[in-house]
Amino acid sequence: ADYSYEPPGTSHCFVPGPVNIHEKTRRAMMVPGQNHRDPWFSPFFSKLLEDVRLIFGTSNAQTFIYPATGTGGWESGLQNTLSPGDKVLTWRYGQFSHLWVDMMERLGLEVQVIDADWGAGVDEVKLAEILKADTEKKIKAVAVVHNETTTGVTSDVGKIRETMDGESHPALLLVDGVSSIGGLNFEFDKWKVDVAITGSQKALSLPTGLCVLAVSDKALEAHKTAKMPRVYFAWQDMLNNYPGGQVPYTPIIPLLHGLRASLDLLSSEGFDNVVKRHHRLAEGTRKAAEAWGLKLLCKDPRWRSDSLTVIEVPEGVDSSLIVKNAFARYNLSLGVGLSKVAGKVFRIGHLGNNDEIMIASAICGAEMSMLDAGMKIQPGSGIGAALKYWQETSSIIPTRA
Ligand code: PLP
Repeated sequence: ADYSYEPPGTSHCFVPGPVNIHEKTRRAMMVPGQNHRDPWFSPFFSKLLEDVRLIFGTSNAQTFIYPATGTGGWESGLQNTLSPGDKVLTWRYGQFSHLWVDMMERLGLEVQVIDADWGAGVDEVKLAEILKADTEKKIKAVAVVHNETTTGVTSDVGKIRETMDGESHPALLLVDGVSSIGGLNFEFDKWKVDVAITGSQKALSLPTGLCVLAVSDKALEAHKTAKMPRVYFAWQDMLNNYPGGQVPYTPIIPLLHGLRASLDLLSSEGFDNVVKRHHRLAEGTRKAAEAWGLKLLCKDPRWRSDSLTVIEVPEGVDSSLIVKNAFARYNLSLGVGLSKVAGKVFRIGHLGNNDEIMIASAICGAEMSMLDAGMKIQPGSGIGAALKYWQETSSIIPTRA
């Protein structure tokens, strides 16, 4: 294969991150080399720290913007709030929650892992039982992946908080919102989240390379006594520099311009509309899966993700063939099944900068690729169901009424 050849048209990227980047955002990042010690930078960066609160649903939490990926965000959250040997309670229900557990263990934390089915989320009844039994309050943090990108499951962080409060448990609540924050409803303040983490290549619709954190006063307080060694991600270094609008090391300036553009797009759309759009695109995709006669990996409707849809293929079909066909024949990138569900599912990402017609193209491509893989689906069935739903539910773009 010659991957230097660019096919005509456009490449269609519908994995759950990296996602489609808006034309305005792409242009905003085309800047010459700029000096972050010049006077324009401080007000520019300070405003970003403030405005990024929008996507977390917080009015005044401390935010941090790092030149790193979501994995760096995980590390930052753990290192700055905990000490070696501290006990963390967490759930494992996919590849990303698995990798976060692995990091916790490698950082020397004592991790209590609840293994759930891949396709399930956090079981609040079980959480209540464990917290109730922890009479000595040994658990220092409850850490959860909000949207498990392997399985298309969104756990209910509001209920997790209610459960912790119901047991009067003082543990910190650390949330990986890498594939939810910026697209799905996230209520940092209301849910009293202590650390929330996201990455730029997901709902923010930027290239990879920034991780963004929101941190509560309680977490900042814990940080003062937490003993885990930290250098690159030390909050204190950021806190020493932020008041002057500065950073302790060289920022990725083009990405920060991209973040500015992305936040402007999200706020001009209205964040409530962003959340509704994600729901609409997800519902249309789920209608397509249903019309194909296929099942979602996520079995309980309350956990169905509006970021991505993970679709099971029948026994005897290798889902990676669908993904291969999509790329080779239609210049379409779909998500493969990861780890335990490799070959059994494929993923359609609909988070970030997408609209109905874009997701329709992903559904059309998926439909053709499934037929190519020998699956017995009715051509036009999935896309027909999605279009019917979107035609009935879409509204006029507010500024074009
Ligand atoms: N957490 C979740 C839920 C993810 O989906 C990912 C990446 O896909 C990560 C963490 C890791 O982020 P990164 O690859 O940016 O380090």
